Amino acid sequence: MAILKNKDPRFSPTAEPYRKLIGRAALFNNVSLEGIHYLLEDCVLKQVMKGETLLAPARKNDNLYVLLSGSLSVHLNNPESAPLLKLDSGECVGEISIITEAAPSAYVVADEDSVLLVIKQKTLWAMVRVSHGVARNLLYVIARRLQQDNQVILDSIKLHEQYELYAGMDALTGLYNRRRFDELFERLHERYTFDGRNLTLLLVDVDHFKNYNDSHGHLAGDRALLALARVLTDYVRPDAVVARYGGEEFLVVLPETDLEQGGHIAQRLVGEVNKMKIALSDDSRLPGITVSIGIAQASPDSTQESVYAAADAALYRAKQKGRNCVSL
Ligand code: GH3
Ligand code: MG
Ligand code: MG
Repeated sequence: MAILKNKDPRFSPTAEPYRKLIGRAALFNNVSLEGIHYLLEDCVLKQVMKGETLLAPARKNDNLYVLLSGSLSVHLNNPESAPLLKLDSGECVGEISIITEAAPSAYVVADEDSVLLVIKQKTLWAMVRVSHGVARNLLYVIARRLQQDNQVILDSIKLHEQYELYAGMDALTGLYNRRRFDELFERLHERYTFDGRNLTLLLVDVDHFKNYNDSHGHLAGDRALLALARVLTDYVRPDAVVARYGGEEFLVVLPETDLEQGGHIAQRLVGEVNKMKIALSDDSRLPGITVSIGIAQASPDSTQESVYAAADAALYRAKQKGRNCVSL
């Protein structure tokens, strides 16, 4: 449709082709325009050019806008941010802010040259008074907007959960990272020591991993860490918490497990790592690795830090004993 100039006498809500476009808008669905003709004469048309901001949170809004042609987008933070919503011809903007008489909550920007019907607040209420159709459609427009907003909230909650998950996850192995582990261990330690139940911590460290990296490359080192992460998760019960604490150090918390049982599990893990196959992404085989494991059990007077320190001291002893072994 050719856009008429602002000054053109036919640039009016009551002139064709705008009248036809008004008839197709959601607000006037099944409404006889004849009955509100005199109120449409109170309205004007407005042209907004691509990139122009129609509504902004800092500006009070006194109009309802019906998009007759073109398209608009709604942005929350600033007009340059990713659009929250796209509006096509027939849709409205400004309906919430003129009802609440508050400033708009978002920016509305023209995505392309657009034409809008501008309905003043007073005129809108007059339309609602004389036309049940307009009243019903306005409710529909608002309900739809609420539904869209709920969807936006739901999407952002999902995104937030996703970010939370990534924030607690080690990028290489997908295991919990140190931050998340510390939170989980704190909770478990408190609960288990309070109830007098057994809780055991394994500190797993790859032996001579610096040499492994130096001899086979960092990429090979990463593949070894990935394989180790898989073995650790596969060989403990689902209620165990497995984390990469940093570098080539992993932690495993074993609920309902005492030092002796933890020792057996750790011993088994050392054996599994000895058998573990490591391959590059092209399937070429890499030499194996070994791990040393330090074990410590939580007690009613331990703290998270003291259990970790005890496991670290035990790990040191395992390294002293010659590595590829377990120490209490
Ligand atoms: P030890 O048996 O005494 O534990 O000797 P180590 O060589 O394993 O210990 P050291 O602390 O000297 O070296 C740890 C090495 O782990 C050095 C570092 O390059 C490597 N490393 C840490 N994080 C990563 C990683 O994400 N990927 C790879 N490939 N290597 C890592
Ligand atoms: Mg090491
Ligand atoms: Mg280490």
